[in-house]
This record gives sequence, structure tokens and C-alpha cells, in this order.
Amino acid sequence: MLPNNIFLKIIDKSIPAKIAYEDEQCLAFHDINPQAPVHVLIIPKKVIRTHDDATAEDQSLLGHLHLVANKLAAQLGLAKGYRLVINCNEDGGQTVPHLHVHLLGGRALAWPPG
Ligand code: 5GP
Repeated sequence: MLPNNIFLKIIDKSIPAKIAYEDEQCLAFHDINPQAPVHVLIIPKKVIRTHDDATAEDQSLLGHLHLVANKLAAQLGLAKGYRLVINCNEDGGQTVPHLHVHLLGGRALAWPPG
């Protein structure tokens, strides 16, 4: 069972976050527990609990998150490469019930993930 959606409080600014980018569709902010020198979370403002809950209606929104990731990767100096991760549900390691794209970079990342 996923816990409360703390990201809603980041969207409405009732809890602080180091914001990297914002527009009408999404918000990007630095992860509180970074797993790489750059670790940003890109989230839709629309509540979509998991990647599994996305529908055809969300197609352009999901594409938008990816293009924002491109923009942020360039701004944050990730010319050597980066990784985008979406954890989904329990086995995927998702801990916050609001779809989010992890943008990780700034070091060589190992594969496969744990
Ligand atoms: P998940 O495990 O669900 O894929 O990723 C959730 C991410 O959200 C984790 O990397 C975690 O460190 C991050 N996170 C959880 N709570 C907060 C918070 O209050 N602020 C920020 N900036 N990141 C958070």
C-alpha cells in the first residue's frame, strides 16, 4: 500500500522543495535523498498515482515530461548522459503515489539496477 501523496504538498508549495522547472503541466524539483550528483524528479501536476494509471488521455502529458527531462539534462550539465527512471508500484520500488520521472546523472550509472 503506497503512503500519502507528499508531492501534492510540493505542488501547492505547502512544503518546500528546490524547484528546477515549472510550467502549467508539470513541476521538477531536486530529490531530497539524491542517488547521483544530479537527481531531479519531474512530476505532472495532474494526479496520476502510478505509471500503470496513465491513459491515452495522458499521452501528450507523458511526452511533455520527457521533453522537460531533455531540457533539464542540458541545463544541469548532463551532456555525457543521464538516466530516466519511473518506478511503478511495489515491485518497481515506488514509494510516493504520484507518477514521477527520476532524472539521474553526473556520474556513470551502473546497470542493471538493484
Ligand atoms: P520512488 O521511490 O517513489 O520512485 O521515488 C520517490 C522519491 O521521492 C525518492 O527518491 C525520495 O527521496 C523522494 N522524496 C520523497 N519525499 C520527498 C520530499 O518531501 N521532497 C523531495 N524533494 N523529495 C522527496
